[in-house]
Parts: sequence; C-alpha cells; structure tokens
Amino acid sequence: MNFGIALHGGAGTILKKEMTLDKEKEYLFGLEAALSRGEKILSKGGSAIEAVTETVVELENNSLFNAGKGSVFNHLGKHEMDASIMNGKDLNAGAVCCVEQFKNPIILAKLVMEKSEHVMLTGNGAMEFGEKMNCEKVEESYFFDQLRYDQWQSIKDSDHFQLDHSINNPKKFGTVGAVALDQHGNLAAATSTGGMTNKKFGRIGDSSIIGAGNYANNNTCAVSCTGSGEYFIRNVTAYDVSCLMEMGGLDLKEASDKVIHERIKKIGGDGGLIAIDKNGHIEMPFNTEGMYRGCWSSKGIKKIEIY
Ligand code: ASP
Repeated sequence: MNFGIALHGGAGTILKKEMTLDKEKEYLFGLEAALSRGEKILSKGGSAIEAVTETVVELENNSLFNAGKGSVFNHLGKHEMDASIMNGKDLNAGAVCCVEQFKNPIILAKLVMEKSEHVMLTGNGAMEFGEKMNCEKVEESYFFDQLRYDQWQSIKDSDHFQLDHSINNPKKFGTVGAVALDQHGNLAAATSTGGMTNKKFGRIGDSSIIGAGNYANNNTCAVSCTGSGEYFIRNVTAYDVSCLMEMGGLDLKEASDKVIHERIKKIGGDGGLIAIDKNGHIEMPFNTEGMYRGCWSSKGIKKIEIY
C-alpha cells in the first residue's frame, strides 16, 4: 500500500532574484525538517493525523513561516492565529480562530477535535478551552520578529491588509499546512496561520474554516490551502477539490488544477494548495510565482521546491 505526505509553507510572490542562497537554504532546511518528521511517523505505521500534526508543529516553531512563532502582526499589533485539522476517516474536525499566545495552534485545534463536542472555537472561548486543556502558552514576545514588525509598520495606518507574501513584501512568506495518507488508508489535513499583515482584529481566514482552507475525506483526498483567504472562503476551495472528484469524476490532478488555475483565479484569488488522494497520489498546484512545498511518498518520491 502506497502512503505519503505533502506540506506547504505558503504561496506567493516568491522571486528567485529576491532570495539569497543562504535564505533559500534556510527555507529548504526548514521544509526538510518538517517533512522528515511526518515521513518518520508514517513509515513506523503512525496515523495520518499524527503525521500532519507533528509536521505542522515543526513549521509553527520555525519563525520563517507565518504560523505559530512567525505569525504576522494584525492591525492592533497583535498575533491572532487560526488553525484547523480534519480526519478523513470519520470526517471529524477541529478548528480555532483568533487565538493568542498559544505556542502551537494546531495542537489546540486537535484538542477541540478530540476533547470537545464542537468543531470550531474562537477567541476567548478557544483560549479558555486551551488553558483548561493545559495547552502550552508563551509570552507575547515569543512571536516578535523584526521583519514582520517592519511589514506591519509600513501599512498599519492604512485600511490595507496584505498577504504575508504579497509583492511589497517579498522577504517573508507563509501559512503552513500538511496532508497525509497513512498505511491504514486514512487521510488527514492540517493548516495553521497568522493570517494577513494588518488584518482587522477578529478577521478569520480560510485556514481555520473546514472546507475552505482545509479538508480531508477518505473517499477522495486531503487538501490544505494557502493564499488570499477571502477568496478561498468564497470558493470553498478545499472541499471544491474533493467535490469535483466525488461528484464530477475528476482525478486529483484535474480537480486541483481546475480549482487553482480556473475557479479561484476567476474570482481574483491567488495562492495554491497541496493535496493527496486515497491512493497516495500527490498534487501541489499554485497560481503565484512560488510556493514553499515538499512531498514524500513510500514509492520513493521526495521533493522540496520553492519556485
Ligand atoms: N490563507 C491565509 C489567510 O488568508 C494566508 C496565507 O495563506 O498566507 O489567512
């Protein structure tokens, strides 16, 4: 039985000419570390849920990516984070939005899935739940990053908000996510983000919305998205891929290409997604200059790419 994992660290205006060799190495190294964490879990027979959680934790702990430690500043100069996770086996899911000071929002989302009767908790309610569950909290200063602070300073007096990887902002990039198929045939998806620089407080992106930025279903595929969240919500993008497969008879490549290069583009959305189907086939399309991404499968495929 084939099994595997794919991850992303955000899509956007990632231009080779803006990247130094050292910076590029740091990104590749970060992606590789996260990918091997997931690969090891799957190779030992671990679950897809565990693999996507641990892979995302690794990316959340890396300040290069806009999730957990590297989360962008919102309009009030705070870090409000969104995350979600879904199990393709039973369609169980958990999500948190607008949470502050939790080191790993994906763990909080997983706790919502496993230990609450709800799917999605937001703001104070999510944080109170996290405290009850003893989910690890850190000081606000843990999230400080000079470059992201400068990004925010440059637009904070405007009504403008921007993707961490927008054209004015080529230095630091994105939301993180992972999708996996385990040896038992189960699919899972996890996505985590700091959202968009200078976003209004209380703004919720696609990453924590099941069906928009994150979706898994053993009948079809597991999907994690990155890009301009408002458009991904309006297109119900992650579910769209699954639905095109289930109802439209498309295969994973046809469905994910259609969604990224036609349907989301048509309404003005930019970004990409990673997806794996129930046979372990992986697709990673994007309609931007680049997307930090990687994948591994038991068939011997291993890729880590940016452009
Ligand atoms: N999709 C994320 C959001 O809108 C941003 C990103 O992918 O970087 O919150």
